[in-house]
Amino acid sequence: MSACMQCPRRCGADRSRENGLCGAPATPHVARAALHMWEEPCLSGTRGAGTIFFCGCNLDCLFCQNYEISHGTIGSRLDAGELADLMLCLQGMGAHNIDLVTPTPHLHVLLPALEKAKASGLTIPVVYNTNGYELVESLRSLEGLVDIYLPDLKYISAVAAQKYSGAADYFQYAAPAILEMQRQCGVLQLDEEGIARRGLIVRHLVLPGSVDEARGALDFIAANLPKDTRISLMSQYVPCHRAVTPPLNRRLTRREYQRAVDYCLSLGLTQVFVQEMEAADAAYTPLFDGKIG
Ligand code: SF4
Repeated sequence: MSACMQCPRRCGADRSRENGLCGAPATPHVARAALHMWEEPCLSGTRGAGTIFFCGCNLDCLFCQNYEISHGTIGSRLDAGELADLMLCLQGMGAHNIDLVTPTPHLHVLLPALEKAKASGLTIPVVYNTNGYELVESLRSLEGLVDIYLPDLKYISAVAAQKYSGAADYFQYAAPAILEMQRQCGVLQLDEEGIARRGLIVRHLVLPGSVDEARGALDFIAANLPKDTRISLMSQYVPCHRAVTPPLNRRLTRREYQRAVDYCLSLGLTQVFVQEMEAADAAYTPLFDGKIG
């Protein structure tokens, strides 16, 4: 592909010759693909989400838990046909859904892969599991192919977004992107067993020393999305990668997390997944061993 412009970085890389700012070449590396039990309960269910971890990321988070793959390349390079086969394989293993993790740098391959997989019998929901730094026009190309959007809403302020993830304009893109996701899929719908079938889940990882960012994200949701929007308010922060200075070099306190949860409820946002503080364990980070299946 020439002159990639499919995310807000719009770096214009000719990825047939060089990696983009996201670190990704034209053909994606899959670092791991397997049944995964550590997503929200309505996604992992009893058999697991059919998770495909891609290498490459258009953010540069100091605290990235997946840093081995976000800016490295591990695993197998798969073209569109091979990705479609992998999705069908995960469906055959009993996955509740296909969970595409950090998919946006690979949109140009995922679009034909999803079309092929669906034409070949993929019936389980497709989950677009993204950091939220998205272009609305790229998301529009996914309409009808994605069933569940699972975006982060990481920051409201440009200062925090630049300092922690190297993207001062994060909220400027994430806000309209989440509205577009809501337009396409609506509020979350569950089946009779509590498994997600369609809709939107907005994630926010509460960072140490950043309860105000959490409040801002929740204010945005309360003001712009339906009150029954599903929110995943996460407490699982662990200092890792380049998170070596305060406040990122410590875990979230119980009090900080409770303040975020209380604020969420005070806004009338009651459809919220909360986490036990014990979830903040590096063991939740998958082993990226290139394993497929
Ligand atoms: S997806 Fe990667 S290569 Fe494409 S514009 Fe974004 S950073 Fe650049």
